[in-house]
Amino acid sequence: MSDKRTLSRRRLLKKTMAAAGGAVLLAQAGSALGQGPAAVTRRRFKAWISRGEGPGRTTLQDATLRPIAGRQVLVRTEATNLCYSNVPAVLGIQPPAGARPSALAAPPGARRLNDMAVIQGHGGIGVVEAVGPDVRRVQVGDRVCVSGTPHCGACYRCLRGRSDMCQFLSAIGPDDLVAIADLADGTPVYENSQIGGLAEVMVAFEEWVVPIFTKLPAADVGMACSCVAVAGLGATTAHALMTIEPASSVAVVGCGPLGLSAVQGARISGATTIIAIDPIGTRRDAARKVGATHVLDPNVEGDGLVQRVRSLTTWPTSRLWSGGRNPAGRRPGAGADYVVEAAGLEHVTPKLERGPDPTGLLPMQQAYEMCALGGHLITTSIIRGDLVLPGNLFSIGGVTHHGGQAGGCSPMKDIPRFVEMLEKGQFDAKTLATTVVPIERMLEAYEQVAYRTTITGLMTS
Ligand SMILES: [Zn+2]
Ligand SMILES: [Zn+2]
Repeated sequence: MSDKRTLSRRRLLKKTMAAAGGAVLLAQAGSALGQGPAAVTRRRFKAWISRGEGPGRTTLQDATLRPIAGRQVLVRTEATNLCYSNVPAVLGIQPPAGARPSALAAPPGARRLNDMAVIQGHGGIGVVEAVGPDVRRVQVGDRVCVSGTPHCGACYRCLRGRSDMCQFLSAIGPDDLVAIADLADGTPVYENSQIGGLAEVMVAFEEWVVPIFTKLPAADVGMACSCVAVAGLGATTAHALMTIEPASSVAVVGCGPLGLSAVQGARISGATTIIAIDPIGTRRDAARKVGATHVLDPNVEGDGLVQRVRSLTTWPTSRLWSGGRNPAGRRPGAGADYVVEAAGLEHVTPKLERGPDPTGLLPMQQAYEMCALGGHLITTSIIRGDLVLPGNLFSIGGVTHHGGQAGGCSPMKDIPRFVEMLEKGQFDAKTLATTVVPIERMLEAYEQVAYRTTITGLMTS
């Protein structure tokens, strides 16, 4: 049900400004209001609303959309990935006692996301239902990806080739969020990171919206465009951080949906030795299926994991005058040319095989050490605690570390490429999307994601 009508500039401005917070984005949205009639869609929709503390904080509720204004885009959700990093917010899982707060946590006294009614999620795919008057990138009826990270193309970082660090990213804190809807009791509804996903609709500023031109099924497209696939494919094929050469060696530490996407990206880029490392047997099987040439269980390898990777990456010879490298010695030259770290911390104890370190620190250290001297490491995970690295290796070992969002990917450039990889059969979405549920069963699927009994889950609506 939609009721389109044109509001006066004054009334719309008043309504828009009534949304708390969002100073920067809102001011920019408001400044565009004089340029034409706003497309306004008032619409009821179902949304998973997270609020308060602990388990049970996320419930399916009806909400009424606020007017769409400025650079906002209304998207009817077709599919959204149930991202592991969103598990604590959705399922209400607290960090372990004594865990230090994240350096990215809100300062004391600031507005808390937990006190607000928030639609969680990291974006998704869908069809544009309405656009604000200042939107240029997409039109009503377009199929789009609401990206996990923005890409404005105009800010300081976008202009310097690091769209994964687009400065619009800095406007996603609790005080920045713009209310997009109201609950029946008048409570304003916000979206995580200005994008949400766990609802029948998403409202995003156009910087987060990428048009995609495909007719493939929603679950497959949703997988290829998910935050995790974008990060894994971005790390290995976007070339913003590193460029994987054909016939090179790549190690992927952690084979959840992000790592399995990185395995595929390594294959697509022409790597000929692809070592996938994960404690969960079904994930190692999936890695082999999508392109890994070797799979390793970190629990079996134990302290020998780094050495094992080195033993698999001695190509082409140990004859140093013949283009070879020294596989042993004090500073062994063996090691993966490229390493993608995608393990991360455990939010809850998995019901399948556990990794060697629930904080995610050990896999990250091992990822650093298994990288060849002169090689490249991309880290993608959320970990708990501070990383300790061998100082001299860090300083003069020649390993180039790349940290960033979404594997360095530029959403407007790269997401359409990932859809093309899906279209042409280079990217296998089905092996990764092992749980696909309708909106009503979202929580059940999220539990599977949390306990790692599935590779990843998608919600369709
Ligand atoms: Zn995510
Ligand atoms: Zn930007």
